Amino acid sequence: MEINVNTGILSANDRIAAENKEQFSGHGLLVINIMGSPGAGKTTVLEKTIDILAGSLKLAVIEGDIYTSKDARRIEKHGVPVKQINTGGACHLDAKMVAKALKDFDLDARQLLIIENVGNLVCPVEFNLGEDLKIAVLSITEGDDKPMKYPLLFRESQAVIINKVDLLDFTDVDMDSLKRDIRKINSNIEIFEVSARTGQGIGEWAAWLGQKVNEKKG
Ligand code: MG
Ligand code: ZN
Repeated sequence: MEINVNTGILSANDRIAAENKEQFSGHGLLVINIMGSPGAGKTTVLEKTIDILAGSLKLAVIEGDIYTSKDARRIEKHGVPVKQINTGGACHLDAKMVAKALKDFDLDARQLLIIENVGNLVCPVEFNLGEDLKIAVLSITEGDDKPMKYPLLFRESQAVIINKVDLLDFTDVDMDSLKRDIRKINSNIEIFEVSARTGQGIGEWAAWLGQKVNEKKG
């Protein structure tokens, strides 16, 4: 019974996600959905990415959070249009929330929409938003067991950003085995080793993303 209820919710979500996707494509807009644990550094990665890309691309950001608008205020300081979604307790964004937030943007004037999902490794990946790319952010301070424990996120993502690599020596993480585990789940995934704090690796990730934006524009 419970399974049926969940299936119903997900297929309703998929219908709205498909409408979002159509809208994005109509505007030639690339949309990414960034997911990861609380504290993985999603917002910091985003801030550094904006600093690199905002000079050449027209960006917009949707910030998902359960209650606060702290992250949205951080993004605002980088001069990018940002819309906050407070889920009011829900632990993920859904397509309907995004559809509503889109009304506040002039999508024709934007080329890249970045959605930061609620910090959670489980259900955000189950709710399509109509995005082109799912991006996982994983920090090495979380240990190296997350890919095997939460494989769906890594299976569905086109890229994973391994953040906080500047702290590698202070952890027991074996980077090679972490990457091997990720590739066991998804052999096509792009892996970026970055430190949003020091800026290491952010350029490679931003260049890859910029390339995806250009491919979508056609
Ligand atoms: Mg955040
Ligand atoms: Zn959830």
